[in-house]
Amino acid sequence: METILILGGTREAAELARELVTSRPEARIITSLAGRTKEPAPLAGEVRTGGFGGVEGLARYLRETGVTRMIDATHPFARQISANAVEAAGIFGVPLEIRTRKPWLRHSGDNWIEVQTLEAARDAIPPRARVLLALGSQHIGLFASRDDVHFVVRMIDPPAKPLDLPDHALVLGRPGDTAAVETMLLIAHSITHIVCRNSGGTAAYAKIEAARELGLPVIMVGRADLIYAHKKT
Ligand code: NAP
Repeated sequence: METILILGGTREAAELARELVTSRPEARIITSLAGRTKEPAPLAGEVRTGGFGGVEGLARYLRETGVTRMIDATHPFARQISANAVEAAGIFGVPLEIRTRKPWLRHSGDNWIEVQTLEAARDAIPPRARVLLALGSQHIGLFASRDDVHFVVRMIDPPAKPLDLPDHALVLGRPGDTAAVETMLLIAHSITHIVCRNSGGTAAYAKIEAARELGLPVIMVGRADLIYAHKKT
């Protein structure tokens, strides 16, 4: 039996699972999630959750589950799992397909300040700015030293402990689907700058369009510093 393992955690991976479940009814389609989101959106096919335990653990899982094909559809900034997938596929000899989003391209009207690291993004924020910090919770602490800046942080799940930011507002929820929704958020919080990473894809793009419409600068962390040799863009 064909058993396809999708390394997921992205909207694209969810779409792929839906497609494969429909187009290959005879196959077993398993999506693997890291388990970072408490209530992930429902997925077509089977779902397994949690780390595998490094390369060895992933190779063991591939063998024990009889995976015949693995697809890396993880987030472009999720580097470790992608590196592990390359190694584990090599060890176990399972074909690996890499489906990584293309980065967003700057359009006319975009006011991007492009940087290569999160540290550079932090340092590029002007004093007294009001910033939509569109980053995963693990990166927020890096901005704690900017006590001259008001941050608006959007998170899907409430943080386990108070955020390590001197002056901030917390907005709970997923990114808005349309520029209009994101524009309302930017205006409501009098945002002057957005800080985000160039993740590509459609799911988080509405804020970029909203910034373009409002003429707001976006401090965009690029992917050039990342080890992407194994990821196709
Ligand atoms: P990462 O740094 O590449 O991975 C860290 C560890 O988490 C991996 O070594 C692995 O643990 C486990 N892991 C990651 N993705 C997994 C998956 N799909 N299934 C099972 N285990 C997984 O990853 P990350 O940046 O923390 O991202 C975690 C997940 O969130 C990914 O699935 C990614 O697609 C999704 N995501 C990430 C971002 C982002 O900005 N990084 C944004 C949106 C969604 P073991 O070594 O124990 O196997």
